[in-house]
Amino acid sequence: MSPRSLLKPDTLSFAHGFSLFLQDAHEFLSVLLSQIKEEGVSLRTRVGLHPYTCTIESNFEFELLSTRTCLSCGDKVSKTESYNCLSLDLVPGGSVQDSLALYFKACEVECQCHWCYGQLASVEQTLQSLPRVLVVHLKRFSLNSRGNLVKLHDRLHVSPQLCLQAHSRTSVRKPGMPKPDLTQGDCYETSFSPEDAVTFTAEKKSSVEGRSAGRIGQDSCAMNDYRITSVLSHIGSNMQHGHYICESSVGNTTWLSFDDERVQQVDQKSTLRRRSNSAYILFYEYR
Ligand SMILES: [Zn+2]
Repeated sequence: MSPRSLLKPDTLSFAHGFSLFLQDAHEFLSVLLSQIKEEGVSLRTRVGLHPYTCTIESNFEFELLSTRTCLSCGDKVSKTESYNCLSLDLVPGGSVQDSLALYFKACEVECQCHWCYGQLASVEQTLQSLPRVLVVHLKRFSLNSRGNLVKLHDRLHVSPQLCLQAHSRTSVRKPGMPKPDLTQGDCYETSFSPEDAVTFTAEKKSSVEGRSAGRIGQDSCAMNDYRITSVLSHIGSNMQHGHYICESSVGNTTWLSFDDERVQQVDQKSTLRRRSNSAYILFYEYR
């Protein structure tokens, strides 16, 4: 079965474009998760499935609380949004944990305060809930000064474990805990559509100077919430040319490499090291 055949016919126009031009695994995953979620909502409505647990929601989604604070008067505005993926800037020479720390680092934005008309605010994001499976998209494709999409081959340490404690609220909702104000097992609608799916990732809204941030993560965090289970790597020089290889854990210690029809056993440690300059999408599972 080809990846494209997984997409629904009614999004074929998008899938067609995807297949011919984009061929981006991150976009494909976003569309696929979106379609599975939509299908679940539709099934519940049409077939009357009760109780129904939305697979995407219960496994991949998490909530980010974004708080904007006026730097002149201290007025705060907060909002919560759901995501199913974190898109992180690379920290060359750093680790995935460093990229995570960079993502959650408070940043300044230009924004007019409706109380004092101050022009600057700080924005900070914290996790309000945690996913069972954390999808991390590394931004290896970036626009250069000429406006061309180029691939970044920077090496980074693919952290075998991640700690989200420093980026979570004290009252963070852990995987499996029911969402407040909702009937347990219900799948609820969010503003999520195939059109949205392409941008339905936690893009950092800032001018953070990520590429020179150095090691700012917490590889030494005592509480590693997540362990890596899968690495999808893009092998190739640019977005238009290349090949995807997936390496995943099957069981506690065994890792397999999936390279088209070739499947072979690999070692996790050496795989993570080998993929330091090609890892593109990472999957971490809550312990
Ligand atoms: Zn203000």
